[in-house]
Amino acid sequence: MSIRVRFAPSPTGHIHVGNLRTALFNYLFAKNQNGQTILRIEDTDTVRSTLESEELIYKDLDWVGLEFDESPLFEGDYSPYRQSDRLDIYKKYADKLLEDGFAYYCFCSKEELDAEREKAAKESRPPLYNLKCANTSLDEAKKRIANGEKPAIRFRAFKENIIVKDIIHGDIDFPTNSFGDFIIVRPDDMPIYNYVVVVDDALMKISHVIRGDDHLSNTPKQALIFEALGFETPIFAHIPMIVGDDHAKLSKRHGTTSVEQFRDNGYLPEALINYLALLSWSSDDGKEVFSIDELIERFSIKRVSKSAAVFDFDKLNWMNGQHIRLLDSDRLFKECLPYMKSIELLTDEFIEQNIYRLKECLLSVKDSLVTIKDVTQNISVYFKQPDDITSAAKEILELESTKPVLENFIQLIGDDEYLTIDRYKSIMKEIQTTIGVKGKPLYMAVRVGISKSTEGPELDSLTTLIPVKCIKKRIEKVLLIKK
Ligand code: GLU
Repeated sequence: MSIRVRFAPSPTGHIHVGNLRTALFNYLFAKNQNGQTILRIEDTDTVRSTLESEELIYKDLDWVGLEFDESPLFEGDYSPYRQSDRLDIYKKYADKLLEDGFAYYCFCSKEELDAEREKAAKESRPPLYNLKCANTSLDEAKKRIANGEKPAIRFRAFKENIIVKDIIHGDIDFPTNSFGDFIIVRPDDMPIYNYVVVVDDALMKISHVIRGDDHLSNTPKQALIFEALGFETPIFAHIPMIVGDDHAKLSKRHGTTSVEQFRDNGYLPEALINYLALLSWSSDDGKEVFSIDELIERFSIKRVSKSAAVFDFDKLNWMNGQHIRLLDSDRLFKECLPYMKSIELLTDEFIEQNIYRLKECLLSVKDSLVTIKDVTQNISVYFKQPDDITSAAKEILELESTKPVLENFIQLIGDDEYLTIDRYKSIMKEIQTTIGVKGKPLYMAVRVGISKSTEGPELDSLTTLIPVKCIKKRIEKVLLIKK
């Protein structure tokens, strides 16, 4: 069997991480099995779907690097891939269902149906259709339509039960009297999700439907339609929901949930992808940090668990830090560039002229970044001495030895544009021998003199990546506080 999977988002906004994980599991499964990936835009909900949202979906998928083999962006063997461009196809198959008796026109008004539903609720029964139009013949229905009536098309739940095969949940036996005859085309001629998805999955030769388990209850309806149209039913894999720490479905109130927000908050696409892959799936050896290629190699849909996955923001932060540490200098620079530009001194011209130095600065703070956004705070010390001194730094400043260390340091620093690492080390050695200060009081004094803080990048980096004349000025200023 050739493996073909689809990701079928509705274009109603940015991709939510839950949807991205669905896209990812489809992608990993297909790539692992040398299959094909299809991106289908499900926009039959004309009220909520927009072309702008469709663009956002492409942008988000592009950012995370999930490329689909077939999509509305280019012609493919099963084009078109946008449901609103397939309405004539749905019409054709709806006519077939009507002809074959698997569907019938339903003339019941909304008011009638609402009243029925209310009555069922009062009597604590499932809201099943009362079958009023189930026996209206097709000829008679067509006459009523010719007279201007606008019916829906209703699918006949023609069996008592249907078994759905699901890789994650096993075989599930659904009794059809839990939903009864259901609408597949609305009176305004717009076909409904449960119907169009079947026509598309069948015609696009989808072998496996991997999607969120919120669609599990739709599946028996779809399975019935597959059977009625004589199509082969795909294999299903319903993956568990992502929930917040209160075990409610992950939503905005838990924090960031849209892919765009993660991008804007300084997360790396590979970290988000890696983190999402570990929600409900794990590798058999417990390894956690993976590249996309490693994920493709190891992913198995059979190892996806049934239970909901809790979205752990701390773990995502950890994962992001791990992937930041793996970046090479060029990529780190590229990712950090938009954020660096928010530092006052870092004009485009300055950046252009100081690329080498900036890259070194970035490498010096790389291991302490949780998100790329943190870079602004972490490297600003290289370009501006903070206005305020920290209380820990003040304590260092009050040590007897600090003043002589700093005075000696600026005396020995020389006039080169930058200190080399060797020069810096020999200065420190010299101070140590001439005034006998060593260890923490020596190193902290210099650190505080330069940065007014006891924390920050390695002193080796601070002393060699800030111009000598700036270091001098900074230390002079700090010595003034001392007085
Ligand atoms: N358009 C549906 C959604 O966004 C996809 C359902 C499916 O995968 O069948 O939830």
